[in-house]
Amino acid sequence: FSRLNRRPIAAAVQQSQNDDFVLEDVPHLTNFLPDLPSYPNPLHGSQAYSIVKNTFVSQEDVVAQNIVIRKDSPRGIHFRRAGPREKVYFKPEEVRACIVTCGGLCPGINTVIREIVCGLNNMYGVEDILGIEEGYRGFYSKNTVRLTPKVVNHIHKRGGTFLRTSRGGHDTQKIVDNIADRGINQVYIIGGDGTQRGAACIYEEAQKRGLQVAVAGIPKTIDNDIAVKDKSFGFDTAVEEAQRAINAAHVEVESVENGVGIVKLMGRYSGFIAMFATLASRDVDCCLIPESPFYLEGRGGLYEFLEERLKENGHLVIVIAEGAGQEYVAAEVSAANEKDASGNRLLLDVGPWLSDKIKDHFTKTRKMPINMKYIDPTYMIRAIPSNASDNIYCTLLAHSAVHGAMAGYTGFTVGPVNSRHAYIPISRVTEKQKTVELTGRMWARLLASTNQPSFISSDLEEVVQDINSMNITSK
Ligand code: ATP
Ligand code: MG
Repeated sequence: FSRLNRRPIAAAVQQSQNDDFVLEDVPHLTNFLPDLPSYPNPLHGSQAYSIVKNTFVSQEDVVAQNIVIRKDSPRGIHFRRAGPREKVYFKPEEVRACIVTCGGLCPGINTVIREIVCGLNNMYGVEDILGIEEGYRGFYSKNTVRLTPKVVNHIHKRGGTFLRTSRGGHDTQKIVDNIADRGINQVYIIGGDGTQRGAACIYEEAQKRGLQVAVAGIPKTIDNDIAVKDKSFGFDTAVEEAQRAINAAHVEVESVENGVGIVKLMGRYSGFIAMFATLASRDVDCCLIPESPFYLEGRGGLYEFLEERLKENGHLVIVIAEGAGQEYVAAEVSAANEKDASGNRLLLDVGPWLSDKIKDHFTKTRKMPINMKYIDPTYMIRAIPSNASDNIYCTLLAHSAVHGAMAGYTGFTVGPVNSRHAYIPISRVTEKQKTVELTGRMWARLLASTNQPSFISSDLEEVVQDINSMNITSK
């Protein structure tokens, strides 16, 4: 399929299908430009890389999305393996790169910025790297800052984003005008689902104008809700930091009579942080996530379970993801349907709502006094620097993005698929969010670990069992 590179580009996602083998390829600048610049990769002479056995990733190397398949079933979807290519598309001295960060904060953004700058400079000798400040609007409303390895040397030790961020303000025409005016030919875009949709618009517009610009997205979401990729950066750090909040809640409730601790964690539409933090902690009695609707009253409901636990242990801890139970809160709070500058619906605060509900139920209805301790560590978690494993992970993401852009790929994002780093078309990570599968093994492990109710009625359980029996793979 290496000939694919020469095909005229038809759509953002190219598919090469060979009976049971599908390649979801990423676009390449040579797809829409007649000349095919190619230069030897400067890593040929690099001291560090000269000792690597296979320095360059072959154009033929792909990463399989499904690693567990039945003997005769189709091989399924594949992505190009990320890494340095033998030939590069850009002469390093002709590269003018820029980096922008948009959307909310997440541990690790600064590490990604640092490693793009250091990767471009140390591996490829690129010196012209610009920082776009305050998100997409910075392209047309701010001056750029010059980024060098020295400038970014210590930024990975800090939380937040060195380049600052914003919501709203994406004007594709103005942004691409600015990219062309400044002579930028590599654009690195770090941000969540909205940001990556914006990156897709920039890629499409650059392509329409025939600009020689490589657009690389590095998806950022603390919630781990990016499709295809194994996990998103900052997620490990968030789960680790969440342990401190859960531990504090546990210490508090253990020290009093009928102590009830509630810890609200991130997770707008996906409960991965809550699920992993619960599994890691073992001090959590019940984990509530957006994917699994729960109910309060009646048999098998939350109140019944909490009362049992209180009678058994004298205390309990609940972890709730911010997106859980939104329908209940919306029914009682008038602020529903407010939106932020990017047009995202603002979530209602489920934490205080649940605390009040539980307090009222036990003290008023059950005449059973409880000691409520509510902890919301979400902003504290978002703002910390990334931990050791995320630092390494961010480095790999940044280097993959640099290798891909230098090789001339565009309209792509990077990330591990079954632990091998791959180039993934942007559209694949924007069209769908990853959510916790209630029929998957990880949620079953959580239910087994907490012994909490599944909040699924017996009819539904049968359906779930049917679906489970049809699944070939489950992570
Ligand atoms: P997070 O939700 O994790 O905080 P995000 O990237 O989804 O991150 P948003 O505020 O939704 O955060 O979007 C970030 C930027 O992307 C904003 O500048 C916004 O204008 C732009 N953007 C959002 N959606 C689109 C879209 N559909 N097309 C073009 N630009 C978009
Ligand atoms: Mg978003």
